[in-house]
Amino acid sequence: MGTLVRITVYCTTPDEARAAFRDGFDRIRELDDALSDYKPESELRQITTRALGRPVRVSEDLFRVLQASQRLAEETGGAFDVTEGPVVRLWREARKTGHAPNDEALADAGARSGFEKLHLDAGARTVMVDDAGMALDVGAIGKGYAASEALGSIGKRGIRSALVAVSGDLAFSNAPPGQSGWRIQIHSEDEAALGVPSKVELTNRAVSTSGSSEQHLDVDGRRYSHVIDPVSRMGLVSDITVTVVAPHGLEADGLDTAASVLGAERGLALIESHRDASGLIVERTHSATTALASTRFRKLLEFKH
Ligand code: ADP
Ligand code: MG
Repeated sequence: MGTLVRITVYCTTPDEARAAFRDGFDRIRELDDALSDYKPESELRQITTRALGRPVRVSEDLFRVLQASQRLAEETGGAFDVTEGPVVRLWREARKTGHAPNDEALADAGARSGFEKLHLDAGARTVMVDDAGMALDVGAIGKGYAASEALGSIGKRGIRSALVAVSGDLAFSNAPPGQSGWRIQIHSEDEAALGVPSKVELTNRAVSTSGSSEQHLDVDGRRYSHVIDPVSRMGLVSDITVTVVAPHGLEADGLDTAASVLGAERGLALIESHRDASGLIVERTHSATTALASTRFRKLLEFKH
């Protein structure tokens, strides 16, 4: 998935720790083989050619990720859309060359995208695509899924306190020994000084963050995020960071990106509509920094630092 994975475990012997790391990284490898957009032989990369015009049975992992993705696509009217792979690739290339993609290339890529062209059958666990030239990209949801799944594998061995970080997507179980939870820094101290909630303490949760701070393209004074708006096919230009907490990273990671595309107000409503999720949306303009917390997120902030 083109990123770094870090695993932390608390247990009694080094052998136990080594076995836990092996379990966690084995699960990560399995998911990388299924979901990576960077590996030409991944199940995800193969599916758009194999399933063209005919249903093809896929792994449970790929199906779960695509099913959650399609649900979010429907809930957001396509603001979240894993079939935007052709558009996402153009922007990835643009970050390398330093030039924004041209209109013609974007129109062509956009014409090959659209979640209505991806069909899932839950009973048969099959996938079918309508259009040659489609590309699926689960970069917005796969890392959170992988973090929670690796944590699950580690837990099966009886280890109760562990943390898996797939770049910025975290999943963790019980608190480290002697502590009441995992203390997660979600914003910098500089932002805390502006009134932005910066720390939460949690157990048995996944936390995902989507923002333009790490991957973006600067052209003519504009900053384009690696998250794209499927309507305009452009990288987001708003400076927005969304943090979502949920029981599983599949939900947290999908929601953070979906809310980023929808924007603060509609994004917050989406997060509120997911019963198990809570979120914080921070938006910066040249004159102000605004933090919007969901009802359930405000409850999470009621702990002593
Ligand atoms: P990060 O990768 O920094 O954790 P996200 O979870 O927001 O952040 O995922 C960003 C990735 O999501 C992009 O690199 C791209 O692969 C994919 N993506 C971009 N725009 C969309 C979109 N509108 N819907 C679904 N996926 C998207
Ligand atoms: Mg995401």
